[in-house]
Amino acid sequence: MDVPGLADLARRPHRRCNPLKGEWILVSPQRTARPWQGQVEDRPPDDRLSYDPGCYLCPGNLRASGARNPHYDGTFVYDNDFPALLPEGPSVAVEEAGLLLARSERGICRVVCFSPRHDLTLAEMALADLRRVVDAWVEQTRDLGGRPYVGYVQVFENRGAMMGASNPHPHGQVWANETIPEEPAREQAAQRRYLEARGSCLLCDYLALELAAGDRLVCENEHFVALVPFWATWPFEAMVLSRRHTPSLPGLGGAERDALASLLKRLTTRYDNLFRTSFPYTMGFHQAPTDGGSHPEWHLHAHFYPPLLRSATVRKFMVGYEMLANAQRDLTAEQAADRLRGLSEVHYRSGG
Ligand SMILES: [Zn+2]
Ligand SMILES: [Zn+2]
Ligand SMILES: [Zn+2]
Repeated sequence: MDVPGLADLARRPHRRCNPLKGEWILVSPQRTARPWQGQVEDRPPDDRLSYDPGCYLCPGNLRASGARNPHYDGTFVYDNDFPALLPEGPSVAVEEAGLLLARSERGICRVVCFSPRHDLTLAEMALADLRRVVDAWVEQTRDLGGRPYVGYVQVFENRGAMMGASNPHPHGQVWANETIPEEPAREQAAQRRYLEARGSCLLCDYLALELAAGDRLVCENEHFVALVPFWATWPFEAMVLSRRHTPSLPGLGGAERDALASLLKRLTTRYDNLFRTSFPYTMGFHQAPTDGGSHPEWHLHAHFYPPLLRSATVRKFMVGYEMLANAQRDLTAEQAADRLRGLSEVHYRSGG
């Protein structure tokens, strides 16, 4: 199914709307032949050890807080030693002339080690071990979201030195706090408006369009679909959507958790194979708040925001026009999906 008019825009500057955020992105496909004279970053060394005595996430090692990690053999979750949020404290509100506004905010920050192996990534982990990571995300959402004051649970992974990740050991984070953070709050408002206006779910309807069109799909299975969204901002941005309308991670059944683990492995393997490098990204799940309300508008999904543009060392920066005016990209979402779709699902480091 071709979207009427889209072919006319394939080589011309145009704008695309992100209906989840109500934001537009400028797309400039006529520039994809432009020579690159920007920064070339050092390629990270690829001689990783399975255990690093100096790593604060490896089993049995000492952390800066003085706590020692157990000799874990699956996932390992602990309260962040330097948390951005604290669970206790008085409720304080500042409001001066409607201009100086501040509120106290409570929360809990946890670290989730995905594997005892220092040298693996999601792409290289065994499927059964990746399933344990999915179970840990479900369990953390349930545990933290079940606390009376916690309104939202954000599960995320920040991977690669290029993204500012301080440690290559495979791990992610879970932050739970009182209020709904800005990004999911905007997506919630958009999903709610759509449901009220049309009586259906924004992302169910969007997924149906993408499955019919096909040209932005990357890979899929019985329960999940990975695609480059029509409104992608980062060059190889992707979204992972559940086929079933379900609001959050704890709503996933056993077969769905297996399918999610499998799809994440396949997508991240494609990412690593794209530039034959351990592909950096920020990824995270967006799900319904845990504020006790009913949230029929929410459709569980994950976003992958990778910075690499055309090689293991050339990244995209969101600066200049993008910081001051509008996000912009050259490669179209269709071109990016086409590149990712054409890649092998055998990891390049496995000798395949
Ligand atoms: Zn480690
Ligand atoms: Zn839905
Ligand atoms: Zn989202």
